[in-house]
Amino acid sequence: MVSEDAGVSDEAGGGVGEDDGRWRTLLDALLEALPAGAVVQGPDDRVLAANRRFTRMFGAEVRAGGMPVFGAESRAGGIPGGRHVHRTAEIPLADGRTLRRVIEPLRHGGAYLGALWTYDDITEHKRRERDLERDNVALTELARQRNAFTAAASHELRTPLTSIISFCELLTDPAFGALTHEQASFLEAVRRNADRMQRVISDLLLTTRMRATAGLELEFGAVEVDRMLLDAVLDRMGAAQEAGLFTVLECAPGPLLRGDRHRLQNVLANLLENAAKYTPAGGRISVTAAPHGEFWEIEVADTGIGVPEEFREEIFNGFVRAPNARTGGYPGTGLGLAISRAIVQLHGGAITVGGAEGGGAAFVIRLPVAGPPPAGETA
Ligand code: ADP
Repeated sequence: MVSEDAGVSDEAGGGVGEDDGRWRTLLDALLEALPAGAVVQGPDDRVLAANRRFTRMFGAEVRAGGMPVFGAESRAGGIPGGRHVHRTAEIPLADGRTLRRVIEPLRHGGAYLGALWTYDDITEHKRRERDLERDNVALTELARQRNAFTAAASHELRTPLTSIISFCELLTDPAFGALTHEQASFLEAVRRNADRMQRVISDLLLTTRMRATAGLELEFGAVEVDRMLLDAVLDRMGAAQEAGLFTVLECAPGPLLRGDRHRLQNVLANLLENAAKYTPAGGRISVTAAPHGEFWEIEVADTGIGVPEEFREEIFNGFVRAPNARTGGYPGTGLGLAISRAIVQLHGGAITVGGAEGGGAAFVIRLPVAGPPPAGETA
C-alpha cells in the first residue's frame, strides 16, 4: 500500500518530491479512516504520521516528520526503534485503560519501509472478561456445593431405604405369619415404591460421580451387540407386557463392538424403561440395530407421547423433563438421559431423539465399532 514511490521515505529523510503533498494527504486520510489509533513509522523509526484517534488516546502531540511528544505510550515503553516484525501486545496504562497494540511491518519488494502501529482501547472488553471469569468461579463453586449436597443426601437415604426393602422381604416370609391378601398388596406397593426410590438414588449418585473430576470409569471389552440387545429386551419384557405393550427386536449381523457392556446395558434399560413409561397400553416398542460403516446404530422407538421438537436436545441435560411428561402424571427425575448421554459420549458416540412414525419417540444411539478415539483425536 505504501510504496517507495509514495514519497514517504523521502519525507522521512526530509526530501521534497513532486507528489509529496498528494501522497501525504492520502496517507493522512487513510490513517483517519482506520477504526483504531494509528501511527506510521518510517524506515529510520521517525514518526511520519499519526491519526487523531491516536492523539486523543495518548494525549500525544505529533509533529509531521518528527518524533511525537508521547504521554502515556512513552511511559508504557514508547515507540522503540529497529526493524519490526508483526507483534501484538496488551498494554495496561497507569490510568486504568488497557490497549491492544498491533505492530505491522510495511514492506515492498523486500525493502523495509517502516511500520504501522495501531491501538485499540479494549478496557471495556477486559472488564467484561474479568467479570465473566469471576462469575464462572462463583458458578463452579455453586455446582461443587450442589454436587456435594446431592452426594451426601443420596448416601444418607440409601441406608434407611435398604432397611425398608429388607423388612418388606422379611414380612413376605410365611415364617413371620401369613398376610391377608390386602396386606400383601399394600406391602407390594411399599416395595415397588422403595425400589423406585432406590433407582432414583442410584441415578443421583451416578450423576454426582460423573460431575466429579474423576468422572465415570468404563471397562472396555468386546461386546456382541445382538446378545446385549436381547438381554436388555428380555430384562424389561415382563414390565412391558404388564403395561400392555408389544416389543419387537430386530438386529442385523455385524462386528463386535468395543465398549463397556454393563454401562451400555444401563443406557438400553433406561431407554426401554422410558419407552414403556411414556407409551399408553396397546402401544409398541421396537428396537432395531445395524452396523453402518464404522458405526453401530441402535434405535429404540415407541408409539407413545413423543418428545416435543423444542425439547429434543434439552432433555439430555440433567433434571430436564418435557412439559408433556411433567403434566401427564408420568413419574421421573430427568436424570436417566443425562447419564445415558454421558455413557454414550465416553464411548465416542452420540445419542439423539427424533419423532417416530405414528407420533412416538425414536432414540438413536450411534457407537463407533472401534470404541472411542485415542485421547486428543475427535470422533
Ligand atoms: P425421566 O424419564 O426420569 O424424567 P429421563 O432423563 O430418562 O428422565 O428423560 C428425560 C425426559 O425426556 C423425560 O422426562 C421425558 O420428558 C422425555 N422422554 C424420555 N424418553 C421418552 C419417551 N420414550 N417418550 C417421550 N418422552 C420421553
